[in-house]
Amino acid sequence: MTERNIPELETAEILDGIRAWVEIESPTQDAAAVNRMADKVQADYAAIGARVERIAGQDGFGDHLLVTSPWGDLEAPGILVLSHIDTVHDVGMLAGRLPFRVEGDVAYGPGIYDMKGGAFLALAAMRHLVRAGKATRLPIRHLLVSEEEVGSPTSREHIEREARRAAVVLVTEPAREGGRIVTARKGTARFDLVVRGQAAHSGARHQDGRSAIKELARQILDIEAMTDYGTGLTLNVGVISGGSRANVVPDEAHAAVDMRVPNPEVAETAIARFLALRPYDPDCTLEITGGLNRPGYEKGPEIALLFEQARAIAAEIGFDLKDVATGGGSDGNFTAAMAPTLDGLGVDGKGAHTDHEQLYVSSLVPRAKLLLGLFEVLGK
Ligand SMILES: [Zn+2]
Repeated sequence: MTERNIPELETAEILDGIRAWVEIESPTQDAAAVNRMADKVQADYAAIGARVERIAGQDGFGDHLLVTSPWGDLEAPGILVLSHIDTVHDVGMLAGRLPFRVEGDVAYGPGIYDMKGGAFLALAAMRHLVRAGKATRLPIRHLLVSEEEVGSPTSREHIEREARRAAVVLVTEPAREGGRIVTARKGTARFDLVVRGQAAHSGARHQDGRSAIKELARQILDIEAMTDYGTGLTLNVGVISGGSRANVVPDEAHAAVDMRVPNPEVAETAIARFLALRPYDPDCTLEITGGLNRPGYEKGPEIALLFEQARAIAAEIGFDLKDVATGGGSDGNFTAAMAPTLDGLGVDGKGAHTDHEQLYVSSLVPRAKLLLGLFEVLGK
């Protein structure tokens, strides 16, 4: 086949493929549904001659897929493409509030933006290479996990194993405002704080009581005061509860806390400080559980270089690629410590996790070409 006869990457074919994936609803908690989605992805990849290994789900989650390009040395360090096939939307959204539909440049559907669109772009790029009879310098592995939306508890070991033997990691999470890709992400820590005091009748024996709510209130001010916008450290006491009725001095109170950290150094100090919280009232006790959930990563020299390569490819395609640091987490948080990682390489759109989730149809071909360009240029 000569170069002239290779079909171009084409919007209608890509959108059809995404539609087929979107129309298989796959909420994280419904393993049978996620496995139906895995069946489809497996079949689509098998159809282009890729090797697909199915990794059985654990702890009630669906299966993961590890796809390998039909070419390349299986043992060599390669390009790891990372995607997830689960969504946050319950089965029924498609028939209800969020049917697949195209209105002008906008295509709607559950998970179309986060991230079935992006996951499919990687398949479209590999399919293009297969049709063109081309091989990339680095082998490509595409890992699609079943439970990213709940923090990848069972796939993390697979993600880290594959990242360890990767030269580069490309994550197909959705693009940010203006098609930006992600070159830094904050890490996330979660804590539960339980304060225990002493109950007492608020009228007859007030002086015997030790209010857990009063103690918690003082702790909350200290916790919130740890926030430092200068370094990018933020703490949010997001949920509080405690007490039983107005005329009882409360003997228990709870807080759930979300901490965001820009890098491992800040994380270490902030977490140590949090775990060292002590009660003001010596008759109260604090019980703190939790810790780092996903580590943060910054745009170091390797990621900066990778971004410049992506920007040059985008310029050739005809768009100006920008990058952004985000406070949100993804599986890229796990890989960045092991291999240079670019994230947010999926489709452009908006409304992740909402009933107006959408992608921009005009972003499909340029974004597929960006992935294709990276596949071809990396390892040069
Ligand atoms: Zn996602």
